[in-house]
Amino acid sequence: MRILVIGGVAGGMSAAARARRLDEHAEIIVFEKGRYVSFANCGLPYHVGGEIEQDSYLLLHSPESLKAELDLDVRIEHEVIGIDRDAQTVLVATPEGTETFEYDALVLSPGADAIVPPIPGVDLPEVTHLRTVDEARELAGRTANAKRAVVMGAGFIGLETAEAFRHRGLEVTLVELAPQVLPPLAPEMSALVEKELTSHGVDVRAGVAATGIRAGGDDAAVTVTLGDGTEVPADIVVMSVGVRPNTALAGEAGLELTDRGAIVVDEFQQTSDAHIWAAGDAIAVRHGVTGQVGPVPLAGPANRQGRRAADSIMGRSDKAQPVLGTAIVRTFGLTAATTGASPRMLDQAGIEYFVVHTHPANHAGYYPGSQVLHLMGVFSPEGKLLGAQAVGPDGADKRIDVLATALRAGFSADDIAELELAYAPPFGSAKDPVNMLGFLAQ
Ligand code: FAD
Repeated sequence: MRILVIGGVAGGMSAAARARRLDEHAEIIVFEKGRYVSFANCGLPYHVGGEIEQDSYLLLHSPESLKAELDLDVRIEHEVIGIDRDAQTVLVATPEGTETFEYDALVLSPGADAIVPPIPGVDLPEVTHLRTVDEARELAGRTANAKRAVVMGAGFIGLETAEAFRHRGLEVTLVELAPQVLPPLAPEMSALVEKELTSHGVDVRAGVAATGIRAGGDDAAVTVTLGDGTEVPADIVVMSVGVRPNTALAGEAGLELTDRGAIVVDEFQQTSDAHIWAAGDAIAVRHGVTGQVGPVPLAGPANRQGRRAADSIMGRSDKAQPVLGTAIVRTFGLTAATTGASPRMLDQAGIEYFVVHTHPANHAGYYPGSQVLHLMGVFSPEGKLLGAQAVGPDGADKRIDVLATALRAGFSADDIAELELAYAPPFGSAKDPVNMLGFLAQ
């Protein structure tokens, strides 16, 4: 059996590695158009900020290590430029020219493309994205001579990028079209994150769009003009306004796509073609609470989907669980995390709910160092958990992970109130914040 994989990072490499574990004899070839495979996209902002000092730490594997450990045939700088479904072949642009490869099974995990807003000046050399190792390396280098940066987009990656630039001592302006930072959070939770950003010197401009960028300005490389008429000088501009599924290849091959261009797959990651599977940022998934279908570009789901694609190719039949969109970000001293549906998502889906908030200490108040943890739960009128958000210091992460597990299990407020969670004063309270959320919703 010959398995071809397009995309050598999260979903693609998970599929390849799992396929090898299930079949010692399969021929597995991974095509990656970039220079690196298996790199830590999620670690890129921390290299820009200098916390991960050496960029080599971001490179988890090389074609050589994958050959040695898993007998994978990994071809970097190989871009798949065509899929012939009838012939079951792909056409690949290699450094030496084009080459055709046959497949028995094909896995697509080509990821997503950064959205580029259609404003003047986005093609200036000072304007960049943070999606690849080369971009992270270049940005880390440029911080040495830069004084000011503008980050467009205050989503998870935008926030990490803004923090990274502050670590490097740059003045940072964070521009967000939505009226708040971290749009997936409820406004009252997002306000806490905005306060943390401003208290660490980030100039937050929410509710306004950038309308243009021009070269030169007030002792700076470029000037960014905002919709309210203000101008922000900068030496670096990073666009982080979202991604769209990279599915031109799948579309040209006639695979079924959603109306927003994501690849349609079933619970086994199989596309509309019986010989082609797909995973990661390029596919549409069903949201576990709202039932809405669309991309959820996160690393955990991508890895599991890649693994599941390999399982399905090898005849195993583990069905996908709907995605909950569990996500987390550190912003200086605060952690913001979310799982399941937010009130806004439920409003859009026409689902009834009620919200409870609690603001307990992250561990026993009498033990030194306790701080306030803000926890929000969203419940159905019958008391079933629909979503949760946390903003706070240490311990916000574990509360959201417990609540994500509770959500997956279909728990109610009563179940959450009864959870027996690990407790000693440095870690929590006898009535854990998660239990408190359940008590309030009962
Ligand atoms: P990718 O991992 O992006 O891999 C796709 C690969 O396919 C790319 O290397 C691309 O070059 C290659 N490719 C595309 N087309 C072709 C072709 N035609 N031929 C050959 N190769 C091709 N998620 C989290 O859950 N937590 C985080 O903290 C987090 N942080 C992030 C930080 C940054 C800066 C970025 C960019 C992403 C972050 N993500 C995070 C998102 C996460 O990395 C993605 O959801 C995940 O990598 C998606 O996996 P994928 O396999 O779909 O795509």
